[in-house]
Amino acid sequence: MQEQQLVDEIARLVAEQLKNSVDVYNPADEIPIGISARHVHLSREDVETLFGKGYQLNKKKELMGGQFAAQECVTIVGTKLRAIENVRVLGPERIQSQVEVAKTDAIRLGLNPPVRQSGDLAGSAPIAMVGPKGVVYLKEGCIVAKRHIHMAPADAARYGVKDKQVVKVRFDSGRGGVFEDVVIRVDDTFTLEMHIDTDEANGLGIGKDKGILIK
Ligand SMILES: [Zn+2]
Repeated sequence: MQEQQLVDEIARLVAEQLKNSVDVYNPADEIPIGISARHVHLSREDVETLFGKGYQLNKKKELMGGQFAAQECVTIVGTKLRAIENVRVLGPERIQSQVEVAKTDAIRLGLNPPVRQSGDLAGSAPIAMVGPKGVVYLKEGCIVAKRHIHMAPADAARYGVKDKQVVKVRFDSGRGGVFEDVVIRVDDTFTLEMHIDTDEANGLGIGKDKGILIK
């Protein structure tokens, strides 16, 4: 009988180890995806240069964190006059204008923007914007957005992560794959959503799929 007790004890310890080491998969923990197409954020001064003195952006669609997609679009211009038309403006206005493109866009424009978090523009790529009333040349402001996950503090507690933490996100659908170097961004105004650009989405063949957070 002692032998049986020993076997039971070993079985119990093994089961406990497995429970602790295996990442228990829960579909409710999957991360919804938002695919960001190329877009621009504008300063007050640049809104006026592009659209006219005293011009106010018109709201088309509410986004999280008090942001919105505006009805207005601009044309962005890179080197050798290579341009992309109908690039959406996002509001509200910011202190400094910012142009977010995918790497494929950058190649088309003849630019080499760095991968950065929104707002981190020092030394980023130059670009020009054309609106119905004028042209703005930015000495810096063009970036490829670094992938990130927006979440509220309650989500952060549930996943056991904190603001600025870097995680991985796995996709089993589409072509499948793992995104490394994904930054967590926690704020009261955020709802749970991972933001990737069109190149990243196309690379893994994902659309309205959900990802699995891996620490
Ligand atoms: Zn975002």
